Amino acid sequence: MEGNRPLMVILGGGESGVGAALLAQAKGYTVFLSDKSLLQDKYREILQQVDIPFEEGHHTEERILVATEVVKSPGIPEKAPIIRQLRQQNIPIISEIELAARYTDATLIGITGSNGKTTTTLLVYHLLKTAGLKVGLAGNIGDSFARQVLENDFDCYVLELSSFQLDDMYQTRLNVAILLNITPDHLDRYEYVFQNYVNSKFRILQNMTPADTFIYYRENPAIAEELPRRQPVARLLPISLDDTPKPGAYLKKDALVLYNGTQTVELATADLPLKGKHNAINMLAASLAAQAVGVPPEVLRTGLQTFRNAEHRLEPAGEIRGVHFINDSKATNVDSVYYALESMKTPVVWIAGGLDKGNEYDQLLPLVREKVKALICLGKDNQKLVGFFADTVPAVFETQDVNEAVAKGLAWANPGDTVLLSPACASFDLFRNYEDRGNQFKEAVKRMMS
Ligand code: ADP
Repeated sequence: MEGNRPLMVILGGGESGVGAALLAQAKGYTVFLSDKSLLQDKYREILQQVDIPFEEGHHTEERILVATEVVKSPGIPEKAPIIRQLRQQNIPIISEIELAARYTDATLIGITGSNGKTTTTLLVYHLLKTAGLKVGLAGNIGDSFARQVLENDFDCYVLELSSFQLDDMYQTRLNVAILLNITPDHLDRYEYVFQNYVNSKFRILQNMTPADTFIYYRENPAIAEELPRRQPVARLLPISLDDTPKPGAYLKKDALVLYNGTQTVELATADLPLKGKHNAINMLAASLAAQAVGVPPEVLRTGLQTFRNAEHRLEPAGEIRGVHFINDSKATNVDSVYYALESMKTPVVWIAGGLDKGNEYDQLLPLVREKVKALICLGKDNQKLVGFFADTVPAVFETQDVNEAVAKGLAWANPGDTVLLSPACASFDLFRNYEDRGNQFKEAVKRMMS
């Protein structure tokens, strides 16, 4: 406490931290922001403009451990010394989402899952915008939720929620929640116990009431196993690719079918821009969510047609001599690669590799056997990939150079084949991040085209 005003300490001065600082200040808190790294210029300038005290490059304990409450950036792990000390002193730690949600009455739609969050979040947002709703996009994507609550007057927010954000959410009530899947990822942050990660994802259900809607993919094994233990009170709308749940949503040969208990809607799939089974799940989930907040069928149809996904997710990257290049750099785990290969209709030269996060590749074997004619390993240490697939894939090549990977891909592919970058690994060994990897891949393809 400083004077009579509670002290909100913000840890992390990126987009979400600075937004939280602005909102907390506007709501009457004394605010102090601390970042162990240096701030980006634009964020430093904002803090200076509004006189919010901050430090960068270090954490000063005396200024942090006196907080009434702390907003933590999702990137800071639980094992960071400053977090341990805050826990010892029982100082509450929340996420920026939790803070922002306190100050808005808007309808909240939250989306989580190990894969597909961004695609589905962007699609829900697009469907709602197409319907003419006043809607904000926030969470793990785009602009700070807290800052939008402060500066806008949206009726609805579409929130991409990572498990790290969910971990620091307590009171937030989502009116519509989507859980796409839970497959191993980020286990380093969960003591390498998968159930801890499952529990984190299921926090999306907390505080939901019978008036709210929970949409989930029923055939994901972890969800199927956990759900009966939870007995959610919200209205349940399962998605299935094997069955026809009613209520719920499913796939027919040529249409997505939604049935919410009162109305059946069929949405033709011919020529929709999102391809593959995984995207069918994403489209079913997004359409159910949009329908739950009143978006009519004809708008769903238009919105699905006009949607353009973010880059680096099964993104067409060019064609050379009849060979298609696809950039799926965002596929940083095994499950996303599974769906990428599953959606391929041609023989594939597969470019994979990077920083392994404890991958288990067995799940990919049938698809690799069926579709992959050559594997190009693009990583600093390719031993595990090579070791695992050497007996299955007829040709394997190793490189640390994306240009060489593309050239080899073209050399090994026949007209009509696909060269697919879908790495199953993080990018930090050779690239700045997955965007950098995807961009370098696309540039390499472009150079070969000219
Ligand atoms: P996230 O934000 O959860 O990382 P993205 O939409 O960015 O999800 O997609 C990440 C990767 O996962 C991409 O390679 C994409 O093709 C793949 N993917 C998208 N949706 C799904 C899904 N429902 N299940 C499995 N993989 C998916």
